Amino acid sequence: VPRPTPSRPSGELALIAQIRQRAAATKNKSVSLSIGDDCAILAPPPRHELLITTDFSLETRHFRRDWHSPESIGHRALARGLSDIAAMGAKPFAAFLSLALPHSIARKPAWITNFLDGLLALAAEHQTPLAGGDTSESPSGHILADIILLGSAHSGRALRRSTALPGDRIYVTGSLGGAAAELAALSKNPRKFRNASPKDDHPHLFPQPRLAVGQTLLRRKLATACIDVSDGLSTDLAHLCDESHVSAELFSNTLPVHPSATLHEALHGGEDYELLFTASAATRMPKSIAGISITAIGTILANRNNRPQITMVETSGTRTELSPQGWQHLK
Ligand SMILES: [Mg+2]
Repeated sequence: VPRPTPSRPSGELALIAQIRQRAAATKNKSVSLSIGDDCAILAPPPRHELLITTDFSLETRHFRRDWHSPESIGHRALARGLSDIAAMGAKPFAAFLSLALPHSIARKPAWITNFLDGLLALAAEHQTPLAGGDTSESPSGHILADIILLGSAHSGRALRRSTALPGDRIYVTGSLGGAAAELAALSKNPRKFRNASPKDDHPHLFPQPRLAVGQTLLRRKLATACIDVSDGLSTDLAHLCDESHVSAELFSNTLPVHPSATLHEALHGGEDYELLFTASAATRMPKSIAGISITAIGTILANRNNRPQITMVETSGTRTELSPQGWQHLK
């Protein structure tokens, strides 16, 4: 029987102290009590519901230490949860971080500082307090980060995947395939990306969750259904169709393919964290929301026998079935 490790090695105490000190700067009025007690205490706004999502970021599965800087790992861990909150049209409310670090990393203050830099810069940008969490030494030698993200939305108003209707138009924010293209480039030459900064366009290393767009869709009642593109357009559109019991056709010439990406990456590449949403054909959709372009890419159809769930329509009129081939992260 393995002996349990002593409860708080000194490196871990220093780590907790650093997280606590830096998290204090993110506290806002939604947090009544932050790190330092047995529980955090949160104060949800009246007449709101809480939305909760959890996301693992696991070394070798979601990132590699020789490809991703600690800043990128911290940013991406939070971005995944924030994108789920954006997909529901909600506002981020509080984040919790559970972090297991191998002995060698737990003793490296620079790694942890840079990881928190990445995570907390994105948290600050979206007014998301880091209200608690847990730390441990990782027995596997791998870095494991679990983020729990809470959001809030007016009761009954959060956007869902299950409410698209036949005749609705399909829209997507920004561009698609950029994250897959950047990951492919990163795998060939990680050194080229060593100084990548969240200030520049790095769709894989520093994805930007579309919170302002999601909140505008909800507030202005523009969307009938919404999902974020985390696994790839073909897979996430299939999720939306499954939940709404509908089919879809996509017009291939309208897809906003990222300038560095192929059509295949735009259709099947994952981790773009754009929003994929539907709206009534009668809705006048703005060309951009919060500075992010909005592109109509297809139409929702009723389910019919023999109709593929997703059909691609070429400019020539050729129709082909598009099957989900979403991204499997690092496989
Ligand atoms: Mg999602």
